[in-house]
Amino acid sequence: MEIRKNVSLQDKHTFGLPWKSRFFCELTKKEQIPNFLNFAKENKVPVLILGGGSNLLPTEKFKGLVIQNKLTGKEILKETKDAIILQVAAGEDWHKLVMWSLRKNMYGLENLSLIPGTVGGAVVQNIGAYDVDIQRFVTEVIAYSLVTGKKKVFTHKECKFDYRNSLFKSSDKWLVVSVTLALPKKFTPVLTYKPLWGLKDSTSPVTAKQVSQEVIKIRRSKLPDWKKIGTAGSFFANPRISKTKAEQLKKHHPDIPLFNNYGSKKITVPAGWLVEHSSLSLKNREEFLYHKHALIIVNNDKGGNVSITKGKRTHAVITRIQNKVSQEFGVLLRPEVRIF
Ligand SMILES: Cc1cc2nc3c(=O)[nH]c(=O)nc-3n(C[C@H](O)[C@H](O)[C@H](O)COP(=O)(O)OP(=O)(O)OC[C@H]3O[C@@H](n4cnc5c(N)ncnc54)[C@H](O)[C@@H]3O)c2cc1C
Repeated sequence: MEIRKNVSLQDKHTFGLPWKSRFFCELTKKEQIPNFLNFAKENKVPVLILGGGSNLLPTEKFKGLVIQNKLTGKEILKETKDAIILQVAAGEDWHKLVMWSLRKNMYGLENLSLIPGTVGGAVVQNIGAYDVDIQRFVTEVIAYSLVTGKKKVFTHKECKFDYRNSLFKSSDKWLVVSVTLALPKKFTPVLTYKPLWGLKDSTSPVTAKQVSQEVIKIRRSKLPDWKKIGTAGSFFANPRISKTKAEQLKKHHPDIPLFNNYGSKKITVPAGWLVEHSSLSLKNREEFLYHKHALIIVNNDKGGNVSITKGKRTHAVITRIQNKVSQEFGVLLRPEVRIF
């Protein structure tokens, strides 16, 4: 039977909570899609597409059908003067793809090394790190509608990419099956992020492999190892506010770091700074907030005797953080992580 009942998802997401779904199946061939969607329709249950489970916080049993994307494969479609056009199945592991692309002298993804999850999840979230996001390489996405079951090829523009967002994340109505990337043949380092500045001082030109290794080193020193500590990375996106709001904040908090990037008129405020500088007081702070960074919400009981109510309690802490920051700075913190 391809669809199983009452399945544990504890080892299928990085928070490591004892999460369950009423129905569960693995998508290994695109031909299975109509059967799975018909099953959900006949049983009148919602569908949740699961990748690597690294961007979600479960708070209760999922009462529908979880389809875990296990579609694999990658194909070079063509080579232009400047780029390799590569189509990748959405169930491929993101970090392994980055390592593979570098071995094959395809560049651009090095700053996105070591981000957990699948290629599909990466496009849904428009992953970003160290001043690079995936959308700059995406030329096409193929997805199936969860409503009609029909296939659609999305151009870059139709994906409506935005900061840590896309049409697929905001609408929740698509199953992404493959992504086409145009990866440059010439390496152009992006070293604008301060911790990478050290690479500029080297006497010989920096290589993509060195950038990737440095990114991996920084991430290992800053972020918890999700295999041991439950987490979904940074919980909140950095808010983007108007210039007027930024000026108001600067007046009251002269030390607040503000950035004008992503080529927009908006100003970015680090969500971590807002949390750290709020008067949030949590009796059991270390139970929920990573000791090195307040933006990283953790489950320190991963692998231990923990119940799904921990997800609910974590959600309550998240709401408290949002309320505090909103009351004290007038800024809304938007979770990057999906809460189920
Ligand atoms: C330690 C750690 C560090 C992280 N660092 C970063 C970082 O630097 N930058 C960053 O942007 N993110 C980061 N993340 C978050 C996360 O790794 C990424 O968002 C990742 O791309 C999620 O992919 P996934 O396959 O695990 O998605 P999942 O968690 O499985 O799913 C996330 C959402 O996407 C949907 N989804 C997944 N696959 C598909 C699909 N094929 N079709 C349609 N919908 C789909 C799901 O329904 C869900 O709503 C980090 C997470 C951890 C644990």
